[in-house]
Amino acid sequence: MFEFLKPKRRRADAEVVAVKTISPHVRRITLGGQEVAAFLETDGMDAPGAWLKVSFPNGHVRAYTIRRIDRQAGTLDMEFVLHEHGGVSGPGSAWASQARIGERLGIGGPRDARFALPPDASWVILAGDATALPAIQSICQVLPAGVKAEIYAEVPLPADQQAIESPAQLEISWLHEQAAPGSALCQALLSKPRPNGDGYIWAAGESGAVRTLRAHFLQSYAMPPRRISAMGYWKVGHAAHRGGG
Ligand SMILES: Cc1cc2nc3c(=O)[nH]c(=O)nc-3n(C[C@H](O)[C@H](O)[C@H](O)COP(=O)(O)OP(=O)(O)OC[C@H]3O[C@@H](n4cnc5c(N)ncnc54)[C@H](O)[C@@H]3O)c2cc1C
Repeated sequence: MFEFLKPKRRRADAEVVAVKTISPHVRRITLGGQEVAAFLETDGMDAPGAWLKVSFPNGHVRAYTIRRIDRQAGTLDMEFVLHEHGGVSGPGSAWASQARIGERLGIGGPRDARFALPPDASWVILAGDATALPAIQSICQVLPAGVKAEIYAEVPLPADQQAIESPAQLEISWLHEQAAPGSALCQALLSKPRPNGDGYIWAAGESGAVRTLRAHFLQSYAMPPRRISAMGYWKVGHAAHRGGG
């Protein structure tokens, strides 16, 4: 009998080697160091939207997506949303807003973003908020050229919009956050007619909004569950929605 082999996860002690503010609500942190160079060889690191558990110096653990890997330099980039919904921040966001070169973090993983494009999909919808943007960007880089992809991205401000590159044909709708996180996404998608033919939907962001969208696609679009990947990346009023465990 063959044993089912899960991709091996590893841990590394990482050093902040660069910090860049890329928009009003997003800071890019580049991690490097000897252990990171070896960590980059772990299976699954190149999967689109692959994510890591990040252990901050104060002991808190949160989930963040690998935005970019540079094996020559031995570094990886992550993009942290600086959030303060209803005046509430969190240790991940607070750390990123102050991070300096030379600080150290623990990283562990990778884990999968559940992007599983069926080969017969002629269209794709990718939907998410600013926390899902790094995953959406990395998914777009691996979409096949023949696919038509509609992107629905909710960001706090127009200045938080970013370039999204892809070999596929992209149609991007930038939405701007309203009082309730995810409500702009829901408004845009709940009124959108189903494209013709067989497709695939990937959605991530605030948990309640993602649940609403998934239910809508299952019912109104009559999509089979295997053609939808939906994941709550954070939840209003809950700390460490997925990262802490
Ligand atoms: C697979 C996966 C990949 C992820 N990738 C990324 C990524 O690449 N970049 C990124 O920034 N985040 C990403 N996230 C989301 C991130 O893990 C959460 O937003 C996390 O809660 C942030 O931790 P925190 O310490 O800042 O806040 P927490 O301590 O977890 O939460 C404190 C408070 O802030 C609220 N809150 C948390 N996040 C947000 C937010 N984005 N906007 C408004 N309020 C919020 C919570 O509801 C809570 O009330 C990802 C999550 C998952 C599961």
